[in-house]
Amino acid sequence: MQVYRVGGAVRDRLLERPISEIDWVVVGATAEQMRELGYRPVGADFPVFLHPHTGEEYALARTERKSGRGYGGFTFYASPDVSLEDDLIRRDLTINAMAEDDHGTVIDPHGGQRDLAARLLRHVSPAFAEDPLRVLRVARFAARYAPLGFTVAPETLALMRQLSESGELDALTPERSWKEISRALLEPRPDVFIQVLRDCGALKVLLPEIDALFGVPQPAAHHPEIDTGVHVLSVLRQCAEHHQPLTVRWACLLHDVGKGLTAEADWPRHIAHEQRGLRLIRAINERSKAPKDCQELALLVGEYHTHGHRALELKASTLLELLQHFDVYRRPQRFEEFIAACEMDARGRLGLEQRDYPQADYLRGAMQAARAVAVQPLLEQGFKGSQLGEALKLERLKALKAYKKTLEM
Ligand code: ATP
Ligand code: MG
Repeated sequence: MQVYRVGGAVRDRLLERPISEIDWVVVGATAEQMRELGYRPVGADFPVFLHPHTGEEYALARTERKSGRGYGGFTFYASPDVSLEDDLIRRDLTINAMAEDDHGTVIDPHGGQRDLAARLLRHVSPAFAEDPLRVLRVARFAARYAPLGFTVAPETLALMRQLSESGELDALTPERSWKEISRALLEPRPDVFIQVLRDCGALKVLLPEIDALFGVPQPAAHHPEIDTGVHVLSVLRQCAEHHQPLTVRWACLLHDVGKGLTAEADWPRHIAHEQRGLRLIRAINERSKAPKDCQELALLVGEYHTHGHRALELKASTLLELLQHFDVYRRPQRFEEFIAACEMDARGRLGLEQRDYPQADYLRGAMQAARAVAVQPLLEQGFKGSQLGEALKLERLKALKAYKKTLEM
């Protein structure tokens, strides 16, 4: 049997990028032989094994045929007579369809090295259209390699558009989609991910609420970029520049969806878009099966981002309500993420990327002031139950008033 490195490991070595994991393909072996050599099968009916020591993935060379809708609708054929070339042709992109043997010789039947040099994400064959997940994968690779100058080849984008328009994307399970979406949002150019999906018509299918933001104007005074979709892309870009976690990036993607519901007659203003958007955020959260922390932050940022921007003008009582609502006493980290999302929103505007955001420190200070109020003295004074809660709230309000005063001096 022969063993080759394949896929991402070969691609990233040629790009001189760090290699995250090595995938291997095995030619000329049976599943039986693999088990005898101590490899552990990953699943019952999938010809993939884990190395007994390194834990790396070893897949038997295989061919695939589509037998129905979605990913479940695939039949695999793995046998010792499947060649390396047979295996490489089923892969999505030319730059992912290269193998490398023990001597470092690259086997590249589909022009992967040519496309690496040309900085092109290009599909291997028309069989690309058999798995709609590839639309998301290509957009994700675009988000990762955009800083190196990569773009999607026009013929591949055309194929992605066909897939999007054919309704095939509906067959994707939320789990498979979320895996791609979450990974893509964490790439260096999450905005490119959304842009590529939009360019091929997939955004309209997967996240119509985001797609609807393009073409919706905002007041130039606050938003020199005007277009709401363009604004959201800039906010995502800021998230990447500032290394924000997934929760913040997800919340930023969704924070303005309410603006897509504003009646055209009211443009470019979007009064109460925060409240109007909540229903949409809830729907997107549920549809995408995002993890709980992402869902939660998206709803909070959607509802309160304007509070964040107006932090310095908020009355002490409003500030307290905000802090109580965020439960900053038990969840300070979540409030930090809220602050981060507000800051990204403020900077994700044309020409304002470097602006100061004094609201951030102000909100942090307010949180500290409220958290610094001690319960013990109130207990000692005999407060219990709901009265204790009220007394605590009053003390926190005092603390916030004092905090505001010190800053005004
Ligand atoms: P990453 O750095 O994100 O791991 P990768 O290229 O290694 O990138 P994997 O998802 O680990 O991506 O898959 C390994 C290889 O398997 C890919 O390079 C590609 O050749 C192939 N592959 C994975 N998923 C698909 C798919 N849905 N359709 C076609 N080929 C795929
Ligand atoms: Mg990989």
